[in-house]
Amino acid sequence: MASQSQTPKCFPGPAAGYTQSFWRTQPDPLDSYQSTPELPTETDILIIGGGYVGASAAYHLLSDQKEPAPRVVLVEARELCSGATGRNGGHLRPDIYSATATYTERYGLEAAAEIVRFEVAHMKEIEDLVRKENIACELTFTRSLDMYLDEDQLKKAKIFYDSLISQGLDFMDDVKYLSESEAQKEAYVRDAKGGFSFPTGHLWPYKLITGLIRIAVANGLNLQTNTPVSEISQSQNPDGSWSVSTNRGTIHARKIILATNAFTSALAPEYSKAIVPCKGVCTQIVAAPNAPHQELPGTYAIRLGPGAYIYQISRQDGSLIVGGASHTFKHDLSEWYNNPDDGTLVRNMEHYFDGYMQRTFFGWEDSGAEVKHIWSGVMGYSADSLPHVGNVPGKTGQFIAAGFNGHGMPVAYLSGKAVANMARDSVSFRETGLPRLFETSLERLKPVYNDILE
Ligand SMILES: Cc1cc2nc3c(=O)[nH]c(=O)nc-3n(C[C@H](O)[C@H](O)[C@H](O)COP(=O)(O)OP(=O)(O)OC[C@H]3O[C@@H](n4cnc5c(N)ncnc54)[C@H](O)[C@@H]3O)c2cc1C
Repeated sequence: MASQSQTPKCFPGPAAGYTQSFWRTQPDPLDSYQSTPELPTETDILIIGGGYVGASAAYHLLSDQKEPAPRVVLVEARELCSGATGRNGGHLRPDIYSATATYTERYGLEAAAEIVRFEVAHMKEIEDLVRKENIACELTFTRSLDMYLDEDQLKKAKIFYDSLISQGLDFMDDVKYLSESEAQKEAYVRDAKGGFSFPTGHLWPYKLITGLIRIAVANGLNLQTNTPVSEISQSQNPDGSWSVSTNRGTIHARKIILATNAFTSALAPEYSKAIVPCKGVCTQIVAAPNAPHQELPGTYAIRLGPGAYIYQISRQDGSLIVGGASHTFKHDLSEWYNNPDDGTLVRNMEHYFDGYMQRTFFGWEDSGAEVKHIWSGVMGYSADSLPHVGNVPGKTGQFIAAGFNGHGMPVAYLSGKAVANMARDSVSFRETGLPRLFETSLERLKPVYNDILE
């Protein structure tokens, strides 16, 4: 088991210490890198946050050789990719029919379908990116097996699935329904009542992000890890720049990209109701050497009942990354809600995943599978379940891409690209081609939904 950091909580920004995730066990030379010994005093574009969004923004700002290239600085409070991206489940899984039901009910099918197509598009985008840039991040394509253990929940999902199929929607072409016997025989899930399967991917997120940042640094990015921002000035300077205070001095930036996800409201308090830091737990599980166990045909979402689910991928080395199960601690708000501390696990979660493979899958009874690493991570949950992307309301020159919930992998890459285009080329939100519902706005800062607690 990984050792747990004893560093105390540091509310409300990122904690100074953290539980160690499996993904961060092979640190990259850029992990604690500072391009220059001093923090520059000014820049054209300042990216705050070195996770998936920050890396995508930096890569896109500097990769197309447009002249003149802007001066770009990226500040990261801790090590590179030490936030949610460095501690997630590694699942690049578009949500095709599940959240779509809620979005359709609230905003109509056309707006909901934009999100599905955007998520599905990430699969090809990431495939092309990884191939073009030759980034070794174990990108793997397989099928996601969405398995339901609760009959009523499955029935409801099937009704929505049937309605999407009957409308002939393009993204439903390869979404298959599995009956109870298929779910048990082909997906090997004990107690499954049925489910769905569709194309998905998984990868090593830390390696993707360090790969992108390496290219950006080669193209001129000034990377400054271990540089927490404590404040952004309330108003612009006479030259239009914003003053940004860090532990290593002040930097004046003409444009700012907030890639701060869960920690956004520490710097932009107007987001405190819209994006809330919420803690989750993830593990790496490994079977005993030479112990018999069933090879699994894909990744999983094991739906135990409404609001209760576990996600899982099988890695190329045979180990599994398994996380979720927040239903077991949801009642204990202080453990997870508005809690930005990834320095500790969630109470009583230390042993939840012990024996998980044995009790969930046929063919794993004698596997001796054990938790090898367990860690926590902080997600930016948004009140309406949608990310916030675009111009920060009322703050000219500040842009945001944050609030990706537990679901950033098929969403954040193109969101980072979009804010890079907005900051560098002054394109409008509409011109970015992002789903319309992602646009941040004053209205969304006073949320009408409270999806996090309801
Ligand atoms: C346990 C867990 C499991 C998950 N599993 C999945 C999954 O399987 N699939 C999926 O799609 N999504 C998953 N997610 C969600 C996904 O990881 C996130 O949505 C995504 O990584 C968000 O990327 P980001 O760049 O916005 O945020 P982050 O990776 O959190 O990056 C934000 C960065 O900003 C830095 N920062 C914040 N404030 C400051 C400041 N004041 N000064 C300087 N730097 C600052 C932070 O230190 C951090 O590094 C999971 C998340 C967690 C925590």
